[in-house]
Amino acid sequence: MSEISYIASSDCSRMLPGENSEVTNMVSQRYPVHVSDYYVNLMLQHGDAIRLQCMPDLRELEDDSQCPDPLNEESLSPVKGLIHRYPDRVVLLVSNRCPVYCRFCMRKRMVGGGDAALRNEDFPRMLEYISANSGISDVILSGGDPLMLDDGSLHFILSGLRSITHVNIIRIGTRVPVTLPERVTPELCKVLKKFHPLYLNTHFNHPAEITSASEQACSLLADAGISLGNQTVLLKGVNDNIDTMRALTTGLLRIRVRPYYLHQMDLVRGTAHFRTSVATGLEIIRAMRGHVSGMAVPHYVIDLPGGKGKVALLPDQDERKGEFLMLTTYTGEKVAYRDVTDPPG
Ligand SMILES: *Cc1c(COP(=O)(O)O)cnc(C)c1O
Ligand code: SF4
Repeated sequence: MSEISYIASSDCSRMLPGENSEVTNMVSQRYPVHVSDYYVNLMLQHGDAIRLQCMPDLRELEDDSQCPDPLNEESLSPVKGLIHRYPDRVVLLVSNRCPVYCRFCMRKRMVGGGDAALRNEDFPRMLEYISANSGISDVILSGGDPLMLDDGSLHFILSGLRSITHVNIIRIGTRVPVTLPERVTPELCKVLKKFHPLYLNTHFNHPAEITSASEQACSLLADAGISLGNQTVLLKGVNDNIDTMRALTTGLLRIRVRPYYLHQMDLVRGTAHFRTSVATGLEIIRAMRGHVSGMAVPHYVIDLPGGKGKVALLPDQDERKGEFLMLTTYTGEKVAYRDVTDPPG
């Protein structure tokens, strides 16, 4: 059997520019700190929007009210590293490493830790579980970052999944195009394209993250026939305003990435300082709908605590007056739309 192993990542003990080493020491005892050289350079050019995402902050330690695992992922894991919440989809945590440990990470409880790494003996159990459950048609590789695995390990995992006939699509969730774009090589793409239909959701949070390097990474993936989507987290001080979000989502379309989800911050311990109100998220969606390409508008979702699943939110919830639905257009005009009545039964 193939060994599951990681790509070599750079030294994380170095001092980061502008870093307060006392803060870093305190925070890193609970939550790991690592920033790729590429992302350090981006921070030096763009300041706070990048800095807030990657530099440790004492407020992470002050937030003790929220839960480490509000989505109950641990209790939805019938097999170590496999989360089965919806009937037809599973998430596999195939890596616990990332090029950058995002300070707002929903899996802050496990990323960068020593014991949550995928072990060679874990993966066959995941495969057995998926094989035995023929309702599972969509497998999402997540972590941590799956693209921190080396090409051979990815080939091993993907061919294992493709040997199960009821697995329809495979998705990869990765921040590598944003935080370590040089990892996306022609060799990697050659491996990935053997396992279509393959979808990849990446994770851009700010238009400054769209660079020639990240664009190049996305081009290689798209040219390998991989459909690219993006999941953004709504983050206070980073992207919680209309102009930033419009620039982000239209910029993504330009590099062939389709905005998929805008996530309301999960109630994860250590991340409270990033939370915005739902009103802010709805205002951003309202300002996009009709004003920019519909292709650029993501679904705004809350992943409900307790593992109850994602719920999509829309601005201007529509009220009903008799047979009329009262709708609001993108210019703010109210329009009465006559609905049909379904026959009873
Ligand atoms: C988000 C998520 C999925 C995928 O949901 P989609 O809406 O299909 O993208 C699957 N399983 C878990 C546990 C999730 O959190
Ligand atoms: S890349 Fe994803 S999994 Fe890794 S720290 Fe950032 S948000 Fe968490």
